[in-house]
Amino acid sequence: MGLMKSWVTSANRADTPFPLNNLPYGVFSVGDDEPRCGVAIGNMILDMAQCEEVGLISLDTEPSFDLPFWNDVMELGPEIWAQLRARLMELLAEGAAERTAVEPLLIPQAQAEMHMPLLVGEFTDFYAGKHHATNVGTMFRGPENALPPNWLHIPIGYNGRASTVVVSGTEITRPNGQTKAPDADMPSFGPCKRLDIELEMGAIIGGSSEMGHPVSVQQADDMIFGYVLLNDWSARDIQAWEYQPLGPFQAKAFATSISPWIVTKAALEPFRTSTPPREKELLPYLQEPGPLLYDIDLHVTMAPAGKDGTTIARTNYNQVYYSAAQQLAHHASSGCAMNAGDLIGSGTISGPEKSERGSLLELTWGGKEPLTLDSGETRTFIEDGDTLTLHGAAKGDGYQIGFGSCTGTIRPAPKFPA
Ligand code: MN
Repeated sequence: MGLMKSWVTSANRADTPFPLNNLPYGVFSVGDDEPRCGVAIGNMILDMAQCEEVGLISLDTEPSFDLPFWNDVMELGPEIWAQLRARLMELLAEGAAERTAVEPLLIPQAQAEMHMPLLVGEFTDFYAGKHHATNVGTMFRGPENALPPNWLHIPIGYNGRASTVVVSGTEITRPNGQTKAPDADMPSFGPCKRLDIELEMGAIIGGSSEMGHPVSVQQADDMIFGYVLLNDWSARDIQAWEYQPLGPFQAKAFATSISPWIVTKAALEPFRTSTPPREKELLPYLQEPGPLLYDIDLHVTMAPAGKDGTTIARTNYNQVYYSAAQQLAHHASSGCAMNAGDLIGSGTISGPEKSERGSLLELTWGGKEPLTLDSGETRTFIEDGDTLTLHGAAKGDGYQIGFGSCTGTIRPAPKFPA
């Protein structure tokens, strides 16, 4: 499939992240307006609240778009998701009969402020990048014990915080925390000295499962509404001291950023691909019924205050060992209830090459090999004022399915205790 043509001419450019093929869902406002649902098309946003008000959108089950989240639509399920997408295609395709009614409801993205596209119910972060887990394990435990014995059998994860998931552009405050140098007698408390990113994809759950009721991998895939870019900001020095025996806690709880547009599973369908070859056969409840991962190019830029960004890593979502559907099936396998609005992080996505590593911890090998940026400055971890940005797009023939960007600038830690 090639580019699908729209009468919104900016959507027909090969370099737009938002052609008619994409139609991602976000929440926007203009000036003092209330935030509401919108759909990206080229460099414009279709105001869904207005579409609903004038009767251009009327589905079998009436959703509400005059809300600052997409959760109500998610809860309607895959049939309504497909109906909505088909109707949007009809309204925005080249030659659309209703163009004159739709055209006044388009707002330039340049005038809009983006907000969180959903209410995040719960956030679970996984550790499903094999190159990342191998790199981190090698640094901490040596190459012989790099992958924990459970890693090739279980998608390892931890329950994170939904309260601090924020939209791209939100400034991130450096956390304070407790750390201990290996040779110190006592821990100390203060600003994180090893602040890092984790380049991840986020899967947004649109379906639900009841407590006590596991789901198959196929059912799990059917429950996924769409995907976003996700930066799991990480405080490595806090993490190293606190993580045993129950895993990351404050090192991850202070912030997670997501890109503002939810790219639907339907838009990504042409880019489905298999997970990497299994090194150990998975137990039946985790086996995939077909290709459940996606071929999505990812890269990270780092920009000191007032400077242009330097690309510090390039990788692809196809490197992840467990798909979001496998992670979700595992999550529900104990009987854990999953709900519409839940967010699942893939785990840091690193490729096999040094230039493909999705965290500074790996890129600088624990701070031992500083990066040199285009500005001439060097970095091991993130400094105050630095801006880190994730970028992602699935590349088709003459078009791309873009995610927009997921960016955050670091502000200094608060003085605490005062
Ligand atoms: Mn993570």
